[in-house]
Amino acid sequence: MVKLLVKSGGVEALPEWQACFGAVDPTISVHWWEDADVPAAEVDYVLVWEPAAGWLASLPRLKAVFSSAAGVDHITCDPHWPRHLPLVRLGNPETAQRMGEYVVWACLTLLRDARHFALGQAEHAWRYRESRYIAPERRVGIMGMGNLGRHAAAMLQGVGFPVQGWSRSRKELPGVVSFAGPAELPEFLSSTDTLVCLLPSTAETAGLIDARLIAQLPRGAGLVNAGRGSHLVVPDLLAALDAGHLGGAVLDVFEEEPLPAASLLWSHPGITVTPHIASTASRSGRARYVAGAIADFEAGRPLPNLYDPTRGY
Ligand code: NDP
Repeated sequence: MVKLLVKSGGVEALPEWQACFGAVDPTISVHWWEDADVPAAEVDYVLVWEPAAGWLASLPRLKAVFSSAAGVDHITCDPHWPRHLPLVRLGNPETAQRMGEYVVWACLTLLRDARHFALGQAEHAWRYRESRYIAPERRVGIMGMGNLGRHAAAMLQGVGFPVQGWSRSRKELPGVVSFAGPAELPEFLSSTDTLVCLLPSTAETAGLIDARLIAQLPRGAGLVNAGRGSHLVVPDLLAALDAGHLGGAVLDVFEEEPLPAASLLWSHPGITVTPHIASTASRSGRARYVAGAIADFEAGRPLPNLYDPTRGY
């Protein structure tokens, strides 16, 4: 039996985690991370969201760390996380499908002025407004063309949006114009009507969506941020919305989560807020992914979707 500690969701989720892992690989013994009956020296793997600082470094037999999400910034922000160990990012098809659904919904929310109608409904007000555009007239630009961005691009194309992507390296994707690196960012931005951020949180991407970047988008552009709160400079977003340079925003991620009740983002008429739900994979899907990776690793095969410390994601 290999021993896996889980810290993802509350302890009440443990029976479901055990059932999900039991269904795919009964040789994995699953425990809650604070289980006093499991000595630190017996732990082989962990599956975590926001592990307590220093905890991972206290597990001497640990072979690999599994992030419970696609991002790993919630692990690498611990200065003592065990850098010598493989760190696996969640990269299953379900995560990409869920994010694709969110991105399509968010782009349609902006296209069809859904915030305007939601505000009217809250006041029982019939705020008739005609749609200004159809999807083929709004170019969606995705920053971050990884596992999530690529899938979202294909789903957006299915709805009729022209799609282009920006990433560090150039991509070859059917019908998707690919921009790469800082030098091509201005051209990408100037030809993007709805900007979607699906970047990882790194030193290079922190504060990327600021007044300077927003000013390069065409007037009336929309913004969707489902990457991380660290990407967005909130005062710059608010100023651009109030000046009419941006037409609306859909935000799923925030510097501080839960978003504080006093935040101006909650009530701004141009902003739709969701509570970091864009792509939360099911426990069964995550268990399948992690159990498969553990089986591969135990058999001497490579782990999937590894964090690369030189890139920072
Ligand atoms: P991947 O690692 O597969 O893709 C990351 C993409 O970002 C790659 O295309 C990469 O370029 C690009 N990139 C990274 N740094 C830069 C940079 N400095 N300049 C330009 N492009 C850059 O990650 P995923 O697609 O799996 O996930 C992306 C992020 O989405 C996560 O890190 C997380 O922050 C967020 N997320 C949010 C969720 C939510 O519910 N809101 C859920 C899941 C993830 P290249 O292809 O050249 O390497």
